[in-house]
Amino acid sequence: MPRHRFAILSIAASGVLVGLAMPGCRTVEGSGRQQLVLMSVDQERRMGAEAYPEILAEQGVIATGPQVDRVRRVGADLAAAASRRFPQSSAGMDWAFTVVDEPTVNAWALPGGKCGVNLGLLEFVENDDELAVVIGHEIAHALASHGAERLSRDAVAGILAELALGEIDPGLRFAIEQAYGVGVSLPFSRDHEREADRLGLFLAAEAGYDPRAAVSLWRRMAADGGQGPEWLSTHPDPGGRADELERLIPEAEAIRRAAPAPADRP
Ligand SMILES: [Zn+2]
Repeated sequence: MPRHRFAILSIAASGVLVGLAMPGCRTVEGSGRQQLVLMSVDQERRMGAEAYPEILAEQGVIATGPQVDRVRRVGADLAAAASRRFPQSSAGMDWAFTVVDEPTVNAWALPGGKCGVNLGLLEFVENDDELAVVIGHEIAHALASHGAERLSRDAVAGILAELALGEIDPGLRFAIEQAYGVGVSLPFSRDHEREADRLGLFLAAEAGYDPRAAVSLWRRMAADGGQGPEWLSTHPDPGGRADELERLIPEAEAIRRAAPAPADRP
């Protein structure tokens, strides 16, 4: 296991343990979906902030130059769009956008809004519209607390496994059963991806970028032969995504038309 992943898990585990005292059901802003997150927004932000420098130290950072300016500009546009469109979840974010010195096609966002964009991705995208779609997708994962939700689910699943062995206090057991709904199995990975595709598309449109870039980007990802971009290893079914995103284009175009004109875009 890579060191940073271990660090995230340990921080998350402590957060989950603290959070168990008050398990929380939240509603994802912009989708209305109910989710169980066993940690506070503040804990999420701390988890991300602690892991961020470790990941960047491992991967290497591009500190200055046109690609850095570009990523910060597009990131700032999207962060501003998020604060208009998803004000409640945006309030819990502490955004940062860093260019990572890696040739692979990848980008990521940590809980709390710290993001990394690989040099390889910056070369893969054909314009800022496509870049906005990718960063928009990643920050949608952060805004919707997908990482924290996944950790919470995994923690609960682990505790439920122990419950089956009768090793847990009955009071705690009751609380967990109430919070989780025993017997419910949540296939969320696919749901999270779909949610991030949709919310990210609307964020890019709100920020003034062309939402149709999402369709061309995913089609190109699907067509990419050989090993394919690294991003695809965690983002399967590019063709299916392109089709779903295409169906959302009219709604995204309406969002773009209604959005305030970005002051600092060419
Ligand atoms: Zn994703």
